[in-house]
Amino acid sequence: MRVTWTGGGDLSFRLDPEDEITGRASDEHPIRLAINSCSIGGVPDDAHPDLYAVAAWTIVAPWTRRRITFDRAVSAELARALHDGWGVEAGPLGAEPRRPGAGLAISYSGGADSVAAATIYPDAPFVHFRRVAHPRVPNRWPHYRSDVLAKLAASTGRELTTVTSDLEYTLAEPRPGYPEHHAVAAGALLLADRLDLGGLGFGYELGSRWLGGGRYLWRFTPDNPMWAPHGRWGRLFAAAGVHIVLPVGGVSEAVTMRLALGSDLRDQVRWCLRGTGGPCRTCAKCLYKELIQAAVERRPLDTPLTADRPAARKYLKKPPFGGQEMIQYGLARVPGIENTLFAPALDHFDVSEEATGWLEHCYPPALGEIPERWRAQAAAFVEADVGLMSDSEVRRVESWGI
Ligand SMILES: [Zn+2]
Repeated sequence: MRVTWTGGGDLSFRLDPEDEITGRASDEHPIRLAINSCSIGGVPDDAHPDLYAVAAWTIVAPWTRRRITFDRAVSAELARALHDGWGVEAGPLGAEPRRPGAGLAISYSGGADSVAAATIYPDAPFVHFRRVAHPRVPNRWPHYRSDVLAKLAASTGRELTTVTSDLEYTLAEPRPGYPEHHAVAAGALLLADRLDLGGLGFGYELGSRWLGGGRYLWRFTPDNPMWAPHGRWGRLFAAAGVHIVLPVGGVSEAVTMRLALGSDLRDQVRWCLRGTGGPCRTCAKCLYKELIQAAVERRPLDTPLTADRPAARKYLKKPPFGGQEMIQYGLARVPGIENTLFAPALDHFDVSEEATGWLEHCYPPALGEIPERWRAQAAAFVEADVGLMSDSEVRRVESWGI
């Protein structure tokens, strides 16, 4: 793989003979390459070479098999992290390592999880990734309203940098999206020198970090390659002086929902990518989040969806479901759930409150993963507003899926 950056944020890459246009993201999801160029707007043109290298790697990693040649020398430490993590040879070498900055920014999407992360660090600036069209790829996803999300981010009152990018269109399949989940941070990485960043906070919660949630594996994942500090991505980011920080990595989506709805950013929370004046209420994400919100607010489910709609059909099938722990949590707490489209799922779980109470507390090792200079603030927040898991609750996490 050969990568070239021009004009600050314009990336083009050429595959070597051994590279392939099909691959897998770090969560094992199969993906296919569409095009070998993209750009990132709103970033400076003089970032440290290791920052350019990591930003590029979030986009080209799935296609690269044996080596990567950058257009500027990187540090030996950065090359070692690529070699240890992926077995690729990286070069040319020659740069001094980047010294971590002093600050922490939040990679801010506007969803409940990232709002909760933001609430823990009320002074942290935001970096928001906004999707824009690619000049050479047709937009097959016109209903994705990144403009609405960017406007909401701008109305939070926080110090905000919005980066615009078409990098998601480098993916042909399964749909436009991040080649690696970390590509959402490509712009923040290129801004790290200007913003003096030593850490970047993400809204990944307990399910994503520890339970193998989402489209990943449904089991306890202490060595999660994407989000563990000792995982390959954690070490790569650290080598570039930008630590991955998961302020809400120890709490479930029930807690992030409660924190987000109780925060002063409540009016800006938006997890739906489709709605304009508000959430669309009919996509799969809206349905999932409505279940969690109804559980947190202890009220009946409020959805226009019926069981035969595509967004709801999966709950007629057997588990595992994405975000299964939260499905279970919702089933245990939403009044009248047996009269809703979730009724068939009731047969598969223990839906007592006792069996799901662990999802209201923080898994303590998650706080230990936060770099020391930002840990005390998160720990104090969790102690005051959430509470730590008991030993038996910790065992629920560590036996998940086993
Ligand atoms: Zn929606």
